[in-house]
Amino acid sequence: MNRLIDLRSDTVTHPTPAMRAAMADAPVGDDVYGEDPTVNRLQALAAERLGKEAALFVPSGTMGNLASLLAHCGRGDEVILGDRSHIFLNEQGGMAALGGIMPHTLPNQSDGTLCLAEIAAAIRGDNVHYPRTRLVCLENTHNVCDGAPLPLDYVRAAADLAHAHGLGLHVDGARLFNAAAALGVDVTELVAEVDSVSLCLSKGLSAPVGSLICGSSPFIHAAHRARKVLGGGMRQAGVIAAAGIVALQEMPGRLTEDHQRARRLAEGFAALPNLQVGPVHTNILYFSLSDDCPLDGAGLAAALDARGILLPNRGPRSFRVVTHYWIDDQDVEQVLSAMYEILDIEGV
Ligand SMILES: *Cc1c(COP(=O)(O)O)cnc(C)c1O
Repeated sequence: MNRLIDLRSDTVTHPTPAMRAAMADAPVGDDVYGEDPTVNRLQALAAERLGKEAALFVPSGTMGNLASLLAHCGRGDEVILGDRSHIFLNEQGGMAALGGIMPHTLPNQSDGTLCLAEIAAAIRGDNVHYPRTRLVCLENTHNVCDGAPLPLDYVRAAADLAHAHGLGLHVDGARLFNAAAALGVDVTELVAEVDSVSLCLSKGLSAPVGSLICGSSPFIHAAHRARKVLGGGMRQAGVIAAAGIVALQEMPGRLTEDHQRARRLAEGFAALPNLQVGPVHTNILYFSLSDDCPLDGAGLAAALDARGILLPNRGPRSFRVVTHYWIDDQDVEQVLSAMYEILDIEGV
C-alpha cells in the first residue's frame, strides 16, 4: 500500500523540507525573557503581514483565542459569538471556565455570518441587572459552515457595529489565509477594522506547531500576560517559530491549489448516487450518504480505510473532507476512483 491519503484535517500536515531546514538552523534564546530572535522575527513578520502593531506567538489556536478573550474581557463580561463557532463548540468553554466570561450565542447563518441586526439587538444597555457586553467574535473561514469565507464588506460592517457600541471585534482566523485567498483580497485588508485576530500556522500553512495573535500593542501586552498564566510561556521556541516563518512566507500563495482540489473532489462526488455534497468555498467539503444508501458512514469509512484513505465519519452518515499541502492531484483522482468503486452500486 502506498502512503496514506489523509483527508481528516489540514492539521495533519507535516512540516515541509524548507521548514525542517529552517528549524535545524534557527537561532534561539529564552522567549520568556523576550530573547528568542526567531520568535521575535516571526512576531514582527506577522504584525507586518496583517497590518497590526504587534503579534504574539502562541502554542495553539485555542490558546490564541482564549488569551485574546482574556485580554479583551474581565470576569462577568459578555461575548457575542456564533452558536456554531469553534470558540463556542470546541474550546471547552475556556472563556467561562478560566475567565468568568459569559458567552452570548447567536445563530450562525449558513454562510458563517451572524445577522448584524441580531448582534445589535444582543448588545446590552447600561443596566445594573446586566453583564457588560465587551466583544463580538467572528470566525473566518467558518469551519462548520462549509469553510465559508466571511466577505470583506461583512467584516467591515460588523466592525463598524461593534465599534459604534464601544465593543471590540475579535476574529478567529484559524484559516484566515484561506479566506483571503478565496475572496481574492489581501489579509491586511480583511483584518484592517478588526481589533484582534488569531490564526493557525499549523493547519493549511503546514507548520508543525503554533498560532499567532495580532492586534494593537496594548492588546498584545495584555494577551502576553494571559499567555503566561495559561502556561504558554515557552523557552527556545524559535525551533518551532522558524517553521512558522516559512509558513507565513511561502504557504499562503498556494492555498488556492487546495481549494481547487476540494472543488474537484466535490464535482466528482456529485456524480455519485447516494451522496449529498455541500458547497465548496475553500479547502473544506462536507458530504453525507443519503438514507437509502446501502452503506452507512462507518461502512464507507472502513472501505476507504482499506484503500489507504483516512476519512472517518463524523456523524452516522456524514463526512468532512479537508484538502491540504500533502494532497496532490493524483491523490484526488485516487480518492475519486475509490469512491466510485465503493459507491457506484448502480454501475453508473
Ligand atoms: C483549529 C481551530 C482552532 C483551534 O486551533 P488549535 O490549534 O487546534 O487549538 C480555532 N478555531 C478554528 C476555526 C479552528 O479550526
